Amino acid sequence: MRTDLPAAEAQRLVLEAVAPLPPETCATADALGRVLAEPVHSGRTLPPWDISAMDGYAVRATDLGSAPVALPVAFEVAAGSHRDRPLPPGAAARIFTGAPLPPGADAVVRQEDCERDGERVRIRRAASVGEDVRPAGEDVREGERVLEPGTRLGPGPLGLLASLGRSVVVVHQRPRVAILSGGDELVEPDGDVRGGRIVSSNSYSIAAQCREVGAEPVYLGIARDTPEDLARFVRAGLSAHVLVSSAGVSVGDRDYVRPVLEQLGCTLRFWGVRIKPGFPLTFGRFDSRALEGEPGPGPIVFGLPGNPVSAMVTFEQFVRPALRRLAGHRALFRPRISARLGETLAKKPGRLHLVRVRLDREHGEVVATSTGTQSSGVLRSMALAQGLLVFPADADRLAAGETVQVQVLDADFLAAEDSGL
Ligand code: AMP
Ligand code: MG
Repeated sequence: MRTDLPAAEAQRLVLEAVAPLPPETCATADALGRVLAEPVHSGRTLPPWDISAMDGYAVRATDLGSAPVALPVAFEVAAGSHRDRPLPPGAAARIFTGAPLPPGADAVVRQEDCERDGERVRIRRAASVGEDVRPAGEDVREGERVLEPGTRLGPGPLGLLASLGRSVVVVHQRPRVAILSGGDELVEPDGDVRGGRIVSSNSYSIAAQCREVGAEPVYLGIARDTPEDLARFVRAGLSAHVLVSSAGVSVGDRDYVRPVLEQLGCTLRFWGVRIKPGFPLTFGRFDSRALEGEPGPGPIVFGLPGNPVSAMVTFEQFVRPALRRLAGHRALFRPRISARLGETLAKKPGRLHLVRVRLDREHGEVVATSTGTQSSGVLRSMALAQGLLVFPADADRLAAGETVQVQVLDADFLAAEDSGL
């Protein structure tokens, strides 16, 4: 097991250990945010034939040569009707948006340029071939490859899939994350906090972090600080893709997470990452569930530190990118922006610091300011954080006004600051 690793090295080891989850089928209606695990070929041509782009009259462009002209209206074509009736030469057909162009017609004149007079229509101007016609296959052609594996299914791709008649789609499975909290001092939010107990807030923040990234949290509960109880909870999480515990992973007398994981057959890859907050992070994997009498590999395991900020920050740096890779995403990390530092920051060289910052726009640039006390127990510093400022391991000072790198947590900050169009 490696120990005292640089943060980037630890992140590399984590990402090396994960690959996109196997495919499953999913109703297209439920597939928002999922990632395609198949290339999608179109089974149809859209539109299937030339259709009108306007309400107006379908004509042969040559018949309008000496416009204005008056043509007899031969028939009417509504959207959704058949295109079996050919347009006689020297005539027009009343047509509506989306209706198929009758054979023989090659242009549409919008009704604003026409004047209906009983059985005839007066057309004021000439038209060129193809005008206001959406040609067959303008959108997609049968057999064409229209979506690539790895595509995140947003509203656009989902609409396209629906238009191709695809009511189910093959996507990567959603990572299931078993979440366990450990500590004799912990209670649920409605629990009795007398006698120095505290609420297990990590269960909530970590479950929310899972949901935010599209993973499915399965909350196991609070384990007592005994190897037996911890082992019972870890076993309960072995059928998940990922097991995330918090606390009990440091060097205290009752920090049983690492020995219990190893005793149950987990291979720990590292413990101790040169990062602040979050040094005691451990990572491993159950290569098999043989000890439990189950076939197949077990989950990857993150033993996050217990302090609420450390748990959240290490989740951001290590668990979140792993969950994104499992879900099939190609882009694994938060957006990073350059910002001007609003105040001078100092630290000892050696560990990478992730400083919780507020972000403000000033004179066309972004200013990053610390959210206050950076103690790993001060959850408010995280609650107020719009970003995590990357204070490199070897640096000891960042001066006010310097350009710094910030991982943006608050998607709303990246939203346009003005009011739409
Ligand atoms: P430990 O790693 O067990 O020494 O925990 C470090 C700190 O994190 C202690 O102050 C714990 O009380 C706190 N802590 C541990 N688990 C949680 C949790 N689930 N929610 C909030 N705080 C926690
Ligand atoms: Mg503890």
